[in-house]
Amino acid sequence: MWNSPRIGVLGGGQLGRMLMESANRHNIQMNILDVENAPAKQISAHDNHVVGSFNDHESVHKLAEISDILTTEIEHVNTFALEEVASEVQVEPSWRAIRIIQNKFEQKNYLSKHRIPMGNYSEVVDNTPEQLANIGQLLGYPFMLKSKTLAYDGRGNYPVKSEADIPAALEILKNRPLYAEKWVYFKKELAVMVVKTKDNVLSYPTVETIGEDSICKLVYAPARGVSGVVDEKAQELARNAVSAFEGKGVFGVEMFLCEDDSVLLCEIASRVHNSGHYTIEGCGLSQFDSHIRAILDLPIPPRSLELRQPSIMLNIVGGATPDAHLKVAELALSIPNTSIHMYSKGAGRPGRKMGHLTVTASTMHEAETIIQPLINLVDDIRA
Ligand code: ATP
Ligand code: MG
Ligand code: MG
Repeated sequence: MWNSPRIGVLGGGQLGRMLMESANRHNIQMNILDVENAPAKQISAHDNHVVGSFNDHESVHKLAEISDILTTEIEHVNTFALEEVASEVQVEPSWRAIRIIQNKFEQKNYLSKHRIPMGNYSEVVDNTPEQLANIGQLLGYPFMLKSKTLAYDGRGNYPVKSEADIPAALEILKNRPLYAEKWVYFKKELAVMVVKTKDNVLSYPTVETIGEDSICKLVYAPARGVSGVVDEKAQELARNAVSAFEGKGVFGVEMFLCEDDSVLLCEIASRVHNSGHYTIEGCGLSQFDSHIRAILDLPIPPRSLELRQPSIMLNIVGGATPDAHLKVAELALSIPNTSIHMYSKGAGRPGRKMGHLTVTASTMHEAETIIQPLINLVDDIRA
């Protein structure tokens, strides 16, 4: 289409795969750094993928040599390697943004300096029962003990309901750098995908996310029962939070909606995000299209981020047997207005994201009716 720069992506899981789908449609070469036959590599037959790890210095350098611009599909990458190659290739978003965001405690410190509303939190300096008991006094019970780093799908979190839980919490998270968050009594969890371009910060609509066992299960776009004022407040918070960081691309912002309709930040991801998958069918431009356009300075008409139809996204997570998740995809084949996205990760494991599906309809009520049998089946196949 045009003489596009080559994009190198650290990570080739499902997010990389959906970035690749978009790159393919735009006629853009995308080089993936990940294990052999990673989901993103499977749908792009060229010789410029790199076999290795996004944590490995040498592999990141190798990817940089054959790419013009680097980006990531995961925040747990080697930002020191990215810092080194930043003089040779463009890195988007900036390695500085990724370095701050990948440590949830540093992320909170940074965003509170930028006046982003969030619940109270406190650093755990040494992982001792005495220190946690002090934090219990300070924040009250329950509080959420969290790993500062390498957290995903709630792995790294432990709800401490009372002082009696402290030994178990420390046992589970013992060797990790920790901090604690005051419990937030939210009525809903909200999320907004934000697109940071060279001269603008745009947002997709506010969606409602529902988790189960700390893994995202459902996303309702738009968020149900939320006023226009709250929708605007959440989008503004999300844009403000993302504006604090350097670089371009899509960011996912998770938030809590409290009983009094105040909105607090939960966390930011410096990448495309599970809560934005609905944009593939729901919006003119998907989050993956927007990420690619943002990092390449291509036009993003703001109206293309508006929701065209109410949409519900359901994650297809590994169930009780290695192929239990396939039953969901099979049922989805016969359900109208349902798009299936399978990630080709091989055998399913309980809690592993194997695919997702999105239902669109002219009203949210209709979408809810259409998706119900699929939700029932997802509940049935759970381990
Ligand atoms: P992700 O897969 O989204 O990256 P994560 O492992 O980084 O997950 P968080 O997003 O911090 O974990 O927390 C997971 C979930 O735990 C939240 O979506 C929310 O439901 C709950 N949670 C987190 N922090 C708190 C809190 N301070 N108070 C109450 N619930 C919380
Ligand atoms: Mg997280
Ligand atoms: Mg989260």
